[in-house]
Parts: sequence; C-alpha cells; structure tokens
Amino acid sequence: MLTRKEVLKKSPIIIGGPCSVASKEQIMKIAQAVKKSGADALRAQLWKPRTDPNSFQGVGMVGIKWLQEVKEKIGIPLAMEVTAPQQVKEVAGIADIMWVGARNMQNFELLKEIGKYPHAVILKRGFIATVKEWICAATYIGVEKVIFCERGIRTGVDSMRFTLDLNGMLVMKHDYKHPVIVDISHSPGRRDMVLPLGYAAMAAGADGIVVETHYNPDEELVDRAQTIDLQSFDKLVRKSEQIYNLLHK
Ligand code: PEP
Ligand code: MN
Repeated sequence: MLTRKEVLKKSPIIIGGPCSVASKEQIMKIAQAVKKSGADALRAQLWKPRTDPNSFQGVGMVGIKWLQEVKEKIGIPLAMEVTAPQQVKEVAGIADIMWVGARNMQNFELLKEIGKYPHAVILKRGFIATVKEWICAATYIGVEKVIFCERGIRTGVDSMRFTLDLNGMLVMKHDYKHPVIVDISHSPGRRDMVLPLGYAAMAAGADGIVVETHYNPDEELVDRAQTIDLQSFDKLVRKSEQIYNLLHK
C-alpha cells in the first residue's frame, strides 16, 4: 500500500501496462518490462467498465492471484481500478494505489467505500466533468489521498476519441494545488500520437503519465490501436524524465 505522499516522492510518476490483465503470463511479462524501463507502478486492471456490454469485461477476481505473484516475483507497485463497492476490500488488500475510472467518477457509493482506506487513489476525470465536479468527487474519497488523472473530455471535435484537456490539468494544479497525472492513451485512440501527447503533458507540468503498453500491441484484447510497444514505452519514460527534470530541477 502506498499513500499519496509516497507516490508523489516518485515524481514524475510513470504508470504503464496493458489496458486490461488478460492472463498470468501476459501481466508477468509486461510487469517485468515496464519495471526495467523505470515505471513506478503497473496498470493492473481486472475489471473493464465498457460502454458496450458485448465487449470484453476484464478477467475479474480470478486475476488477484496472478497479481499476487507479480507483486512477489517482480515487486512493482500495482495501480488497480475498482468498479464496484463490493470489490474494494479485496482490492485494497493487494493494490498499492486504487483507481477510479472516468465512468465511475461520480459513483458516490464507490468513492465513499474507497475513502475508508489509506491508499493513494487515482481519480480519472469524467468525460464531461468540470474541474469543480472533479474536485467534489475527490472530496467523497478524501481529497488529500487523490492523484487526479486527466484523460480527455468530450468536445464537438470528432477527429479523435477525446480532447486532452491540458488546460483543465493546469486549472487543477494552479488553482487547487493538487497533483495531476495524464492518461495519454485514451484521447488520441491511436498509437502514433501517444508519445507526442506525453511530452506535451510533461512540458505543461504534469506530475506523471499513464500509458497503455504491451509486448505485442496487436494482441491486446482492448484498446489495441492506442497501445504502444515496449521500446516506445522505454523511450517515453526516458524523455518524460528529462522533460520533468528540465522543469523541476
Ligand atoms: C482505461 O484506463 O483503460 C480506461 C477505460 O480509461 P477511462 O476510465 O479514462 O475511460
Ligand atoms: Mn484502455
């Protein structure tokens, strides 16, 4: 378990991993690679809140024992999404950082349950949430535990999945003084734009980034078009650290 203070000490916070855990072998292999590249935590998602009920929903609780093994053998902190209040207790037992997805930003019963634990919590911004609504949601958890995550909002523009709102990130950082990391995978929805958005986010002062990565992106069950390979991940980590150091040191 990590508190927000402990996570922030690792800044820039780099979190990488597959969109979703698919098998023990898959998550082991990715955990090992991202750790080697310098990731601070692994995306370890067992449930996928999907818009389409006919699409892959995640492996669920069965993955807990795989992640236990990842923790023991590889020793990388786990950032795990929870999607329902009844999952929180078990996830809190293994997760280092808990995570609330965009679709659950205002699932208040879930937020209250998560707030019972001391873990740092990544709170993603809802698709159309204002910064004020995002802060209010964090207050249900306990705002001092929250690391905000900008992931793109819905605008009138249809040339990409979502519009990455670095402005919103700056409002949160400058006016509310809370840490913000940026998910650079879900707004472009395509892998050739992921690294440039990562550099832009870091240059604007983000505290870190979240990115979907896989040893063979085309094998991904979910979000394969935006998933970067491990070589790109390695490059992204190095350059993000350089940009962070230029701004902060
Ligand atoms: C994800 O992180 O895989 C995801 C679905 O993101 P979001 O909750 O921001 O849509
Ligand atoms: Mn995804």
